[in-house]
Amino acid sequence: MSRVFVFIAEFLLILGTVFAQQPVKFDDYFVDKTMRIDYFHIGDAKEEEVTLDQIYQQGIWAGSKRNLVDKFDNGRYYVKIYDALSGKLLFSKGFDSYFAEYKTTAKAMKSIKRAYHESVLIPYPKKKIRFRLEARNRENILQPFFSHDIDPAAVGIIRERVEEGVEVFEIIKSGKPHKKVDVAFIAEGYTRREKKKFKGDLERLTGIFLRQEPYRTLRASFNIYGVFKPSGDSGCDEPRRGIFKNTALSATFNSLGSERYLLTEDNKSLRDIAAHVPYDTLVIMVNHKRYGGGGIYNLYCTFTVDNQWFEYLFLHEFGHSFAGLADEYYTSSVAYNEFYPRGIEPKEPNITALLDSKNLKWKDLLTPGVEIPTPWEKEGYEEMDYAYQKIRREINAKIATMKKEGAAQAEVNKIEQESDRLSREHAKKVNSYFQKSKFKEKVGAFEGAGYSAQGLYRPMLDCLMFTRGKKPFCKVCEKAVVRVIKHYSKVDS
Ligand SMILES: [Zn+2]
Repeated sequence: MSRVFVFIAEFLLILGTVFAQQPVKFDDYFVDKTMRIDYFHIGDAKEEEVTLDQIYQQGIWAGSKRNLVDKFDNGRYYVKIYDALSGKLLFSKGFDSYFAEYKTTAKAMKSIKRAYHESVLIPYPKKKIRFRLEARNRENILQPFFSHDIDPAAVGIIRERVEEGVEVFEIIKSGKPHKKVDVAFIAEGYTRREKKKFKGDLERLTGIFLRQEPYRTLRASFNIYGVFKPSGDSGCDEPRRGIFKNTALSATFNSLGSERYLLTEDNKSLRDIAAHVPYDTLVIMVNHKRYGGGGIYNLYCTFTVDNQWFEYLFLHEFGHSFAGLADEYYTSSVAYNEFYPRGIEPKEPNITALLDSKNLKWKDLLTPGVEIPTPWEKEGYEEMDYAYQKIRREINAKIATMKKEGAAQAEVNKIEQESDRLSREHAKKVNSYFQKSKFKEKVGAFEGAGYSAQGLYRPMLDCLMFTRGKKPFCKVCEKAVVRVIKHYSKVDS
């Protein structure tokens, strides 16, 4: 190799590094509008593919104009947008999806393929872009699996105005969407006559949200909107109980076969309704009293507004959808199989496989001198909790049978009240058990997290992502949430 060639190669390498560090100037590449890219995500546990659906030009861009590249390295998927000509990375965002969860179910493992509709929102490009999707492999390394060039001037891009019959309530307006976290609460299962109830629920939930740290301290970073499209019926689907309702978003209990898992697969309706406001994050308020919810990172969260645990449901599920926090609980049954493969460090900020205990991902927050792993009172907790989970399953099965067989409402109410009472009692018992622990305020590595009793660890004894009730986030979760708020609202992330 000639000296000159080596010199040029090195020069290009240095140049490349310099360019890579240059932040993307929004106005050079984008206009202040949103491009919504819809596609179908199809596959099973082994294979997946994407087919494009429609591309839309919609309202103003809600996200940051400064922080266009997502540095969180969280989520099972990433969207990456490149300038088609220069290959420069212009925008990226990590996310999880309904498909990502389906992939881990027994059906997907039996090679039953399913299709899910998904959307990616990006600032509207000025020039041709390369739209790329990446998925993590088993080792959690991102691998590109779909790429498509998009010309923002193409005639096929849908530019129609948003559908009628949707009402918007501006609850909190702190500033321009580019510098704020824009939260859109979408009504689900509220009839036309229940509009007032929706407004009341919205105000109630906004109050709760802004009383919880770290949202309380950073309240000036939020814009909050309510988006109301009346549903034909009140409530939502409950397949196991033989109840089906005609609603705006078709949310349903028993998602992926888990009784309390409440999700919608109707992504298109959700996005069409949400398009009435600029949004960074979506909250689906389900007008129901049964215990249920769900939260998928950078997709949406759901919860039932009239359940006795509504505060916990909302704040917990929002922790998933907004900040990509993992579930720290591990004793109740879920729809997944090996959601976190053994021996691989999960990407979420609040759980660890503890493969390198010297370099714990929250080592800056550890209590000095704390033992790793932290020898907490695990057996006693598990004994108490597994006993409760068993009773809960039995009661739920009984309620489902009674409803299906058309039992008298008074009889069903009686059992439901009993179930609520047991749930409150259990939460109290767990709380007082933790109050007595000498590890109460400590940050360490507590075994039992992410649906696994062994091999996964959480940062503190208790957290909003662990057990039910009115409680704070653990220190690690709180810090992770603050980072996300700043990504949307501050100049630097
Ligand atoms: Zn936590």
